[in-house]
Amino acid sequence: MTIRTRFAPSPTGMLHIGGARTALFNFLFARHHGGEFWLRIEDTDRARSTAEATQVILQGLDWLGLTPDAAPVYQSTRAARHAEVAHALLARGAAYRCYCTPEELAEMRARAVAEHRPPRYDGRWRDRDPAEAPAGVAPAIRLRAPRDGETVLPDLVQGEVRVANTELDDMIILRSDGSPTYLHAVVVDDHDMAITHVIRGDDHLTNSFRQLQIFHAMGWTAPAYAHIPLIHGADGAKLSKRHGAVSVLEFREQGFLPEALCNYLLRLGWGHGDAEIIPREAAIDLFDLDGVGRAASRMDYAKLSHLNGVYLRAADDARLVTEVAARLGVGDDAVVTARLHALMPGLKERAKTLVELAAAAAFLAHRPVPPYAPKVTAQLEAGRAMLAEITPRLRETAFTPEALHTMLAAFAAETGRKLGEVAQPLRAALSGSLTTPPIDQTLAALGRDEVLARIAAV
Ligand code: GLU
Repeated sequence: MTIRTRFAPSPTGMLHIGGARTALFNFLFARHHGGEFWLRIEDTDRARSTAEATQVILQGLDWLGLTPDAAPVYQSTRAARHAEVAHALLARGAAYRCYCTPEELAEMRARAVAEHRPPRYDGRWRDRDPAEAPAGVAPAIRLRAPRDGETVLPDLVQGEVRVANTELDDMIILRSDGSPTYLHAVVVDDHDMAITHVIRGDDHLTNSFRQLQIFHAMGWTAPAYAHIPLIHGADGAKLSKRHGAVSVLEFREQGFLPEALCNYLLRLGWGHGDAEIIPREAAIDLFDLDGVGRAASRMDYAKLSHLNGVYLRAADDARLVTEVAARLGVGDDAVVTARLHALMPGLKERAKTLVELAAAAAFLAHRPVPPYAPKVTAQLEAGRAMLAEITPRLRETAFTPEALHTMLAAFAAETGRKLGEVAQPLRAALSGSLTTPPIDQTLAALGRDEVLARIAAV
């Protein structure tokens, strides 16, 4: 049996990081077992689903490197098949037509609420002769759910979960307008797509019982289920905007690397001893459902930033140059790109995100513009004479980090200055800040003409 998982988002909004983690777990589980990872866009709610949201989901998955192994299945295109299965259930006697009017159903609900009972359908058409159907009422199709016994879900994360069948009423599978209900559509699709494992958020746990009932009624083998705990904010409340970024593309905006976000999400709810840094290949090797915990996990933005810094330092310089140049709007500028290349090893040591990296690199793209921070201005004032004194040497020295290093050390020794008294005013003049990579590298990256021009400007 080929393992096949699916990620089944509803395109009604952004790709939330909870959804991204669900996709990641499905992807890793499939890869670990040599299986396939599929995508199903659950767009049956036509009023709330949008093409833009679908695009955002596809982009987000693509950015995270969670590309499905087959073209996405759009649930809305399968309505005829959903209806066909509903009619097959009718033919098997496992479903029946219900002719209740909306008014009758509303009354049933109101009575249940008044009597403090859960609002369940009372099964009034379950055994009634369809010949008694009122004229002009289009019927819905309901599942003839078992009335005694239990529905048992052997969940791969939650353990065995069971519900008494008296708790579940005869749900509608096909509405009176012929459209499928969501729970029914999911079952038909999971069956037809040959999904072997459904890994999803535990907010869907109670749906599983009803879905299992449909599988059983059709005589189909149900997939294995794994319901993973949701992600909460650091305060334990349901993750929301006020906790910070929650949309995957927002994390991209804020300068996180996809591999860092994936590593972070992997560790959020799944563990392998104390291992923190688990790149994709290792994750595929190690991931399995027995490592998924049962407690809700908490989003920790500081930890994510730390992890991002680790991945940033390990990232290929050329890739970071492209990212930073794009953020600085200088992608086409060969001179600036060369400077970025030269200084990237030093720059990436200090940054936690691409946003920080771009900010630290901005002086390579644009000359600094006053006003500066008071500390920077103070260095410029203190170093004015020194800058004049060192200028002739900058004209003569070869612009390599090594030659510049030797020249700076000699200059400091000869003029009785500490190295910092030379480096800090230079930094201030060149970058408008006091935090650049080593000054010899910074000078070399900017190049002689630019260095002299910037010193002359102050
Ligand atoms: N479409 C559902 C959602 O977006 C997922 C359903 C499922 O995974 O079965 O939450």
